[in-house]
Amino acid sequence: MYCRHCGSEVNEKAVVCVKCGVHPLNDSQHCQECGQPTNEKQEICTSCGCRLMRINTTSAGGGADVIYPSNPPKSPGTAAFLSCLITGVGQMYLGQVKKGLAWLLGGIVLSAISAGILSVPIVIASIVDAHKIGQKLANGQPVGQWEFF
Ligand SMILES: [Zn+2]
Ligand SMILES: [Zn+2]
Repeated sequence: MYCRHCGSEVNEKAVVCVKCGVHPLNDSQHCQECGQPTNEKQEICTSCGCRLMRINTTSAGGGADVIYPSNPPKSPGTAAFLSCLITGVGQMYLGQVKKGLAWLLGGIVLSAISAGILSVPIVIASIVDAHKIGQKLANGQPVGQWEFF
């Protein structure tokens, strides 16, 4: 497919255009199927007849399930450290708020029913998870809201 912003060819699953750095469907200047120029009001491409797709990642709530790398990137070390203090906080720091809460609540429940036996592995897994997710973001890779490790 083609980037709707700059018209260069991008991978079918790409979430960020390598040429211009925005979501490939986050504009209306080119057709995503053939790369021909299109305009704002067009719904169908005049060159290939396909329905033009548009995702606005800048509007509030748009692309809420994907976390884009911040600039400057958040530190994977800080994320791991925060999850070491309180399970799930490192994930919340990275933007995975719901997942962080799930770690925290799940950790409390599982520790309680296992009389504390599971609390150590849960904390360790949470630290490793926060660090891995932090590294992906630091490498410029977007992560899902519920992506683990
Ligand atoms: Zn582009
Ligand atoms: Zn087209």
